[in-house]
Amino acid sequence: MNDCLFCKIIAGEIPSAKVYEDDKLLAFKDINPQAPVHILIIPKAHYDSVNALDEASAPIVGDIMLVAKRLAEEFHLGSGYRIITNIGEDGGQTVKHLHFHLLGGVKLSEKMC
Ligand code: 5GP
Ligand code: ZN
Repeated sequence: MNDCLFCKIIAGEIPSAKVYEDDKLLAFKDINPQAPVHILIIPKAHYDSVNALDEASAPIVGDIMLVAKRLAEEFHLGSGYRIITNIGEDGGQTVKHLHFHLLGGVKLSEKMC
């Protein structure tokens, strides 16, 4: 966990372009944006991925969705956006700290993979 990049961002050890923060969540701009708006929304508590969630921790995903909706409004994504979470190697997950990508600002590909 000490080696986790996103935990270091939460701790302020690595800088990030923050767009939202509360006691449970942090959102910041992706360093390598795949769309005009590309924001990562993460819990401050470390979970490797969706696979690490249980009944007690899963409500954090609902909190993340509400922040995503709020950021979509703030970043003028009224015409649509996409929320993605990658899980494991075949899912394309490169950072092993649960995160949701908020993508928008362009007509996104209809292809899912
Ligand atoms: P994944 O591929 O695990 O779903 O997504 C990880 C995301 O983290 C990638 O989109 C990547 O560009 C982003 N990322 C990796 N390192 C950093 C960093 O140091 N700062 C920020 N802001 N984003 C990062
Ligand atoms: Zn972490």
